[in-house]
Amino acid sequence: MIHSGKFCDKKILIVDKDNKKKNDRTWCFWEQEPGIFEPIIYKQWEKVWFHGQNFSRLLELSPYHYKLIRGIDFYNYCFDLIGKQSNITIKPGEIKEIKNEEGRPAIIIDDEKIGARYIFNSILFEKPRLKRNEYFLLQHFEGWMIEAETPSFNPGEATLMDFRVGQEEGATFVYVMPFSKKEALVEYTLFSEKLLEQQQYDERLKDYIKTVLQIGSYKIKEEEFGIIPMTNHRFPVNNGNIINIGTAGGQTKASSGYTFRFIQKHSAAIVRQLISGKSPVVKQTKRKFHFYDSVLLNILQHKKLSGEKVFSDMFKKNKPRPLLRFLDNESSLGDDLKIISSLPTWPFLKAAAKQL
Ligand SMILES: Cc1cc2nc3c(=O)[nH]c(=O)nc-3n(C[C@H](O)[C@H](O)[C@H](O)COP(=O)(O)OP(=O)(O)OC[C@H]3O[C@@H](n4cnc5c(N)ncnc54)[C@H](O)[C@@H]3O)c2cc1C
Repeated sequence: MIHSGKFCDKKILIVDKDNKKKNDRTWCFWEQEPGIFEPIIYKQWEKVWFHGQNFSRLLELSPYHYKLIRGIDFYNYCFDLIGKQSNITIKPGEIKEIKNEEGRPAIIIDDEKIGARYIFNSILFEKPRLKRNEYFLLQHFEGWMIEAETPSFNPGEATLMDFRVGQEEGATFVYVMPFSKKEALVEYTLFSEKLLEQQQYDERLKDYIKTVLQIGSYKIKEEEFGIIPMTNHRFPVNNGNIINIGTAGGQTKASSGYTFRFIQKHSAAIVRQLISGKSPVVKQTKRKFHFYDSVLLNILQHKKLSGEKVFSDMFKKNKPRPLLRFLDNESSLGDDLKIISSLPTWPFLKAAAKQL
């Protein structure tokens, strides 16, 4: 909403219970053209590895770039921009409720009620009630920023998914994002219904660093932990003038957990509508992409195939460009057919019939 044009005259209040002073997450995403966060890209890669249990492939991403932003840089950059806008106020506080009263939205912060023309809500107050054929898996991960004693990484090549780890609890893989020959973010990730015990993430990260990366001596400089819901539940787009955004607005891709770029695209669409004087309610994800995500979640939830098998087939048999378009919900029907035909036919057909 920081934009030239009519809408920037409106008074905007941002309420958050957190002051965003910590580097609490790292965002990775791919894009072709430089985006609005280009000045704070911490590192980007043109080549990424995929490792299945029986095959490895180095993907040349051009014209895409795989980019990484540190949470703290993002918060500082945004607060700096926001601070320059005289119409935006930041109010720290815990929102207890967001509701419509006589058709006008309002938030309740502690004991105060504030009304507005529109409220953009990114709070997921509770786990949604699931309908038939809806799933709610968790993508949970622990990441360590490590510094090895000796040069151990190729900073020009990141690892998008490394499935060469145990798959007992569900699809399990590791990301490796090298910043230099000695420094990398290594993230142990699972798609499953339950979290692990804290010490299990630690043990498995240690084991991966020792046996796969073959690094004996290193320092842990930073740690991150995260949980991203992977669900085909259709989050309501809006409730009157309360517009849901972010994960709470259905912007997390159910089959991958990627959210960052989807949020940017959704927010840009909202801003375009407001600037042109239209309602900021933007349509939900196209039905075909929601259907593909549902089919994959069905396969993973019911363990019809392992995540390792599905992603290995996808990455072995397809070119990076259409694959990234597919994962971005931007693929053509031709792209979709090629990618779908690279996957095991029967389990996918059966899952598709169930999800229809
Ligand atoms: C550790 C981590 C790493 C991630 N990495 C990636 C990645 O690499 N790529 C990717 O695409 N996606 C990633 N994601 C997923 C997704 O991009 C992030 O979760 C993203 O922050 C979602 O944005 P959001 O606005 O929906 O929610 P949030 O960023 O969580 O924003 C919600 C805000 O609401 C505030 N809030 C919550 N409840 C209240 C309340 N009651 N009152 C007041 N304020 C409240 C919170 O403090 C928070 O600031 C990651 C998520 C995590 C947790």
